Amino acid sequence: MKHPADHRSTRRVTLPTGQFVDVLFVEGAGTRGAPHEADRREAGLHVCPACRSELVAPVAWEHAGPGEWAVTIQCPNCEWWDADVFDEATVERFDEELDRGTEALVRDLLRLMRANMEDDVDRFVAALHAGAILPEDF
Ligand SMILES: [Zn+2]
Repeated sequence: MKHPADHRSTRRVTLPTGQFVDVLFVEGAGTRGAPHEADRREAGLHVCPACRSELVAPVAWEHAGPGEWAVTIQCPNCEWWDADVFDEATVERFDEELDRGTEALVRDLLRLMRANMEDDVDRFVAALHAGAILPEDF
């Protein structure tokens, strides 16, 4: 078995501000056998049964009947995926985890934007002090 570090890749994501972040993907050894269904539902659909990543996300979903949802989920870490029908409570817990993940991403993005903005201001002030910015630059 290869070490997961052998399967790293970086994807550059450009933010609406024009700045970018590099996202590191670490791929695992691939899909393993499905764990016991009850264990998986207890851990939550956001937990990958193959690599234990907590980043499993829905790829597709549709109402499957009263209190049931057909959901396709995939792990971005090892590309494990599953398509199954889940009860309303399981899907609601998954949705809450997705909301928490979204909030964490937005918090990190705001921190990154603030850090970049502070860096921009510091460079601008340094350029002003160095006389490198003139009225005709505007
Ligand atoms: Zn995984």
